[in-house]
Amino acid sequence: MPRAASTHMDNPCQALYRSLLNQNGVQPEGTDISQSVLYTSLMGLLLVADKEKELPLGSGQVGLRNVGNTCFLNAIVQCLSHTQSLRDYCLTKMYLQDMNSSQEPELMNEFTKVLEGLWDVNRGDSTVNPGKFYHVFKEAVPYFSGYSQQDAQEFLRFLLDCLHTEINRRHTQCTSIKGSLEPAFNRFRLSEEASAMWKKHLDRDDSIIVDLFSGQLRSSLHCSVCSHYSNTFDVFCDLSLPIPKRTESRTTVTLRECLDLFSQEESLEKENSPMCERCNRCTKSTKRLTIQRFPKILVIHLNRFTMTRFSICKSTVPVSFPLTDLDLGRFGPADCGSVLYDLYALCNHAGTVNMGHYTAACREQVGWCCYNDSCVTRISEEQLQSSQAYILFYHLKNSTARK
Ligand SMILES: [Zn+2]
Repeated sequence: MPRAASTHMDNPCQALYRSLLNQNGVQPEGTDISQSVLYTSLMGLLLVADKEKELPLGSGQVGLRNVGNTCFLNAIVQCLSHTQSLRDYCLTKMYLQDMNSSQEPELMNEFTKVLEGLWDVNRGDSTVNPGKFYHVFKEAVPYFSGYSQQDAQEFLRFLLDCLHTEINRRHTQCTSIKGSLEPAFNRFRLSEEASAMWKKHLDRDDSIIVDLFSGQLRSSLHCSVCSHYSNTFDVFCDLSLPIPKRTESRTTVTLRECLDLFSQEESLEKENSPMCERCNRCTKSTKRLTIQRFPKILVIHLNRFTMTRFSICKSTVPVSFPLTDLDLGRFGPADCGSVLYDLYALCNHAGTVNMGHYTAACREQVGWCCYNDSCVTRISEEQLQSSQAYILFYHLKNSTARK
């Protein structure tokens, strides 16, 4: 079923403008934009101009061989292979100009070879063998040695982290903690504080992985005694959402309910009371998580596996999710407008904790395909919604959010 496809690149100037705006949220004051983004984007333009504006691409509808319990890897690689900005970045070898290390980016090279195989115009129906890529990955992350089934979300986290380390635009060695923490009562406005923390992050960690997948979470503590608010900001590469319990009146839940539960105000009291920086003692408080900075690619992990005292349980509650226009505005900063995301890939987990199988579903130029190791088949939109949905990949569509 391969069809010819190509990357969409209408006008290079428009593309640069859009990508700067979308990926990085260009700000009037320009305080927290990655400095190398302009350089990278210009390099991209030159490369694009070089390569006649379009990469010749196959359909991408190519399977991956299972090389020994590697369905978790195959499913995640197919989702990443359908992450267009990442795919194009790899296929144009942009990382070679971008990286700030003399070390060979072995994992990135092998990952790119897998993508080249998947998007090869002349590949036809033959599958791609990810064995060499997995081998190099296991050398970087010995935790994945052996042949047992692994968790797809863990694999995704380790993979993105390892790729990031290889192609970081910053020298990781010269990491310095500049200055000391700001005095507690000498803080700027919330958004400025968040921007400052983000800039600090980019000073150390800056890569296409950060450009695409990283967002910023805000955790705010509210003291019930003095009403003081304090905030901490953390970088995230995926949102791991709890799934509400199934009840008799509710046999299926919505993604929105999972997000509500994630962002729900939590009461901290007694031995869990945090230190209030104004009262200077532990006080009864509430805590709430919100999204301060939205990533371009939002990875949502439906946390189906929960640890009980003696074992791991899997929740098989069906979670329904929108394919288009997932609006996360209400989980963002107070005055942010709507923030819309469209689904482009998902990773499914079928079976039990011990005997499971991973597959992927990815949006194509027309319709959707299911990737089950070496087997690629068409599926309908209705088939996407199931109790097996495990990791959802959304891309930011537009945002009226205050930047
Ligand atoms: Zn207080």
